[in-house]
Amino acid sequence: MRGDDTVTGDIHVHSKYSTDSDTPMEEVVRQAIQMGLSYVCFTDHIDYDFPYEDIIFDFDVSDYMKEIGELRDRYGDRVKILAGVELGLQEHLGPKYRQLLRDYPFDFAIGSQHLVGGKDPYYPEVFDGKSDSFVYRQYFEEMLTDLKAFHEFDTLGHLDYIVRYGQTKARAYSYRQYADVIDEILKLLVRYNLAIEINTAGLRKQLGFPNPHPDVLRRYRELGGTLVTMGSDAHRPHAMGFAFDTAKEILRSCGFTHTVYYEKRRPVFVKL
Ligand SMILES: [Zn+2]
Ligand SMILES: [Zn+2]
Repeated sequence: MRGDDTVTGDIHVHSKYSTDSDTPMEEVVRQAIQMGLSYVCFTDHIDYDFPYEDIIFDFDVSDYMKEIGELRDRYGDRVKILAGVELGLQEHLGPKYRQLLRDYPFDFAIGSQHLVGGKDPYYPEVFDGKSDSFVYRQYFEEMLTDLKAFHEFDTLGHLDYIVRYGQTKARAYSYRQYADVIDEILKLLVRYNLAIEINTAGLRKQLGFPNPHPDVLRRYRELGGTLVTMGSDAHRPHAMGFAFDTAKEILRSCGFTHTVYYEKRRPVFVKL
């Protein structure tokens, strides 16, 4: 266990291995060193069977591991470089993801719901003819289904990510409004010994809170959850570590004493 108050790191960072990022891995590592981070974890996107023919969220994991190894050789004395992945959840993908996690020596795996009704909510037409609250509820229900089907990852990414894309954003959203289904998700996280993520991209995207909302983090804690991972979801280096001081304040106010990062798929506790 590392208990040094000054230790911090960003464990949700994308590079050019993600279809939606151009950032060279080396830039991420240099930025981490410049910011004085103690550890940084690449979590590039794998979303098998993404429902758009022209958009593939997948990469050559052997190349990825090789490049991370080279960066460790060059910079590993200045920052701990971890190899993670962000897996896009769909009910039928469990067997493929289990195999992937067996085949490669990942340090960390985030499970993230990126779809609703088989579509990417990044595209506004997903909300056409439906209320935001209808789509938000559908999203949480699908997350619950997907989590029951596959939960051999380490942390649940940006639990209320859908709220970033609604036409009314957070106006149709409170934890209380969806507490029935969100509680089921949180209880499963506790039962499966999974962490929850505080993802500061919600703050960066002017949502007014991180993903998930502090009320959700507080509820996870109330239900017995103690494992929380912290990440910026940066797709460009300047966004790394965004609002981590605010995130730490929120976590303390929700009753957490530590964050965790994962090394060789095991949690390492870092005092808040
Ligand atoms: Zn994501
Ligand atoms: Zn991400």
